[in-house]
Amino acid sequence: MSKPPIWHPFTQHGLNEPIPEVSHADGAVLYRKDGGEMIDAISSWWVTTHGHAHPKIAAAIAEQAARLDQIIFAGWTHRPAEDLARGLRALMPDTLTRVFFSDSGSTSVEVALKMALGYWLNRGEDRHRIVVMDNGYHGDTIGTMSVGARGAFNRAYEPLLFDVTSIPFPASGLEQATYDALDAACREGAAAFIVEPLVLGAGGMLMYSARVLSEMRSICAKYGTLFIADEVMTGWGRTGTLLACEQAGIEPDILCLSKGLTGGAVPLAVTMASEPVFEAHLSPDRARMFFHSSSYTANPIACAAANANLAIWREEPVIERIATLARRQEEHLEQLKNHALVRGARQVGTITALEVGEADGYLSDLAPRMLAMFRERGVLLRPLGNTVYVMPPYCITAEQLARVYGAIAEVLDALAIR
Ligand code: PMP
Repeated sequence: MSKPPIWHPFTQHGLNEPIPEVSHADGAVLYRKDGGEMIDAISSWWVTTHGHAHPKIAAAIAEQAARLDQIIFAGWTHRPAEDLARGLRALMPDTLTRVFFSDSGSTSVEVALKMALGYWLNRGEDRHRIVVMDNGYHGDTIGTMSVGARGAFNRAYEPLLFDVTSIPFPASGLEQATYDALDAACREGAAAFIVEPLVLGAGGMLMYSARVLSEMRSICAKYGTLFIADEVMTGWGRTGTLLACEQAGIEPDILCLSKGLTGGAVPLAVTMASEPVFEAHLSPDRARMFFHSSSYTANPIACAAANANLAIWREEPVIERIATLARRQEEHLEQLKNHALVRGARQVGTITALEVGEADGYLSDLAPRMLAMFRERGVLLRPLGNTVYVMPPYCITAEQLARVYGAIAEVLDALAIR
């Protein structure tokens, strides 16, 4: 058969690398069309929390699809969206009183940035500068690339990206430089600071402490700079708690959630906002409304999947599962961290990361070489440059996790003797 006319994401088709077909999935396992099995050790790009094809989520999707599949959300409402908004309000920090729906992590961030700018404009203050953190990642649209790290990923689009103020990553021992830069930017009247709490994901699983997060939040509060927590990756238990912000005891002004919002089954995102942010847009004047919508805003099928996810969080011992996974991850990391090829190892909750070999960045051929070697061993791992990270669904069994780390050890051994 000829190749299908598909242009895959983050794929150089000129290299003709194999693109295997997955026929079905169950829990932490992906089944290949050719008969092979793969353990999904990266939760299919960090989305799958409770496991693939979760029966409760699958049933909720099927039921809702047969009842009400889609309805314009401007001027109309529906029960799945209302239940979800109430459920999120009950589960998320008290400060976050309003729920705005969109469809991906990137759009939840775009919405957050637009809310922040609308807030200041409607209050009659000229504040529009966004502060970001070095190595941050918030998506691949023009706006989210603007607030993310610049590099090979977005060189071609650089002329379209807007200017931001970037503060240094709070590397251990160098936190004061981060605080000073944030303080200076906020003092100059920055509109908002956007950050990934505790872990910078695509930037290489870079981790910093809850104390730093709480200090950054205080600095923003001092100057009224809106604090936007992008928990698209860290949310839904990844760092050991429902939100990473919880560990710092902080509440953001604006919160971005996606990925695990539906348990990872279908696309949906929310941007939750504090009452002052909502109220700044509240007026009899239409010119002050929040100007954002998309065709699938609050799609009922996606909302039903998210409601099923919330029910799982309420009814099942998810936090206990996460704690067990975090402990097992720690034990495996301990075993591997002294391997000759490992330069560093770190963990937050269910996420572990290993620095392998020499540092030469995302485009080095080490990552695709390792990816292929993991694939041969039946494990889906997709290193970020020299960083091998493990972020599995919470249902992964002890035996499956041992297979993942067994594959990592084998690959490191194979690379060490070359
Ligand atoms: N923010 C963060 C922190 C992310 O990790 C990602 C995606 N990995 C995004 C935003 C963008 O999400 P999406 O790919 O769903 O647009």
